[in-house]
Amino acid sequence: MRGRFYFSPFRCIFAPVKVFFVKTIGPKMSDNYQKTSEEQNQRQFRDRPQKGIDISVVIPLYNEEQSLMPLSLSLRDVLDRMNVTYEVIFVDDGSTDNSLKLLREIHRKNRRYKFISFRKNYGKSAALSVGFQHAVGRVIVTMDADLQDDPNEIPRLVEKLEAGYDLVNGWKKKRHDPITKTIPSKLFNFTTSAMTGIKLRDFNSGLKAYRREVVQDIKVFGEMHRFLPVLAHWAGYKVAEIPVVHHPRKYGKTKFGVSRFLHGFLDLVTILFTTRYSKRPLHFFGVIGLLTFLFGFAIDLELAIEWMIGKTSISNRPLFTVGVLLIIVGVQFVSIGLLGEMITRTNTAEEYVIKEKVFN
Ligand code: UDP
Ligand code: MG
Repeated sequence: MRGRFYFSPFRCIFAPVKVFFVKTIGPKMSDNYQKTSEEQNQRQFRDRPQKGIDISVVIPLYNEEQSLMPLSLSLRDVLDRMNVTYEVIFVDDGSTDNSLKLLREIHRKNRRYKFISFRKNYGKSAALSVGFQHAVGRVIVTMDADLQDDPNEIPRLVEKLEAGYDLVNGWKKKRHDPITKTIPSKLFNFTTSAMTGIKLRDFNSGLKAYRREVVQDIKVFGEMHRFLPVLAHWAGYKVAEIPVVHHPRKYGKTKFGVSRFLHGFLDLVTILFTTRYSKRPLHFFGVIGLLTFLFGFAIDLELAIEWMIGKTSISNRPLFTVGVLLIIVGVQFVSIGLLGEMITRTNTAEEYVIKEKVFN
């Protein structure tokens, strides 16, 4: 009867899955933190032209209480020496220690040190994204809060940027991290470089300098902070890399476990698909599908020839089933690609990054 409660086994299975999705994965995907009215207001605030700030330093942090004071002091030394106007934006990614208290104190002493604090931990990409939205400098420098990145490298990064680049990446040439991190990281950098065609040695470095347009044009979502240079490169920006000094972690512990590498590789696939192939899905699925199909077809053709010349019967050869399976899977991949093409045809909004516009 309609409207009355009835027992459904499907409900029992899917209801918890739905709750899990809505509560945990959903908010991350929809980036809800950006959509609050407060954020919208801040966005408008940023869009107002603010002349005069040369450098905005954006620093994401999560439970880094011991590092914040020493970091702000050394930053002040370096930035004062550079003789520029600057602001430092700390983005507290839902810290549960005393970080927020310290940020309030740092701001009280020096108004050029600003902060934004999330109610909960959203991840480094979210922190960077919100930091970028609020930064008003001509140049935006990002660095980690854990004292592993050295503020003394900022002048060199900015100098390289001024030499005609849009993004300068800090390459941790001599890295002070445990081997469990450095070796998988080398593999990650090699694969990312090979798959994306951009020659960088350290994609995941926290220390980077950007021209303002770059961070305005590129959206950071999910855990995509690792791929900012890739996105910038694909959007047509000039990316350079210089070696920078790196220190061992002095206080606290790393916020990313072994899962970072798994996530990193999955994100690489996502970024390849959503950025490179989102407008031509058949090229992605079609190639895999055709190769699988041809492989299966070749196997079965060979078996058929053997059967025709009377050598063996096909039915008792396990390879026959493998061939059939590959053919079916191949056809399915191509079909998925075609469905993808249909979807992209109905969603034709293209996004192009414009460098300059003279329109009068
Ligand atoms: N971080 C953050 N949110 C997180 C995890 C990390 O803002 O959910 C910050 C962290 O406080 C640090 C930077 O991102 O300033 C890099 O993190 P970490 O030093 O743990 O990474 P690693 O150096 O091990 O790659
Ligand atoms: Mg670190």
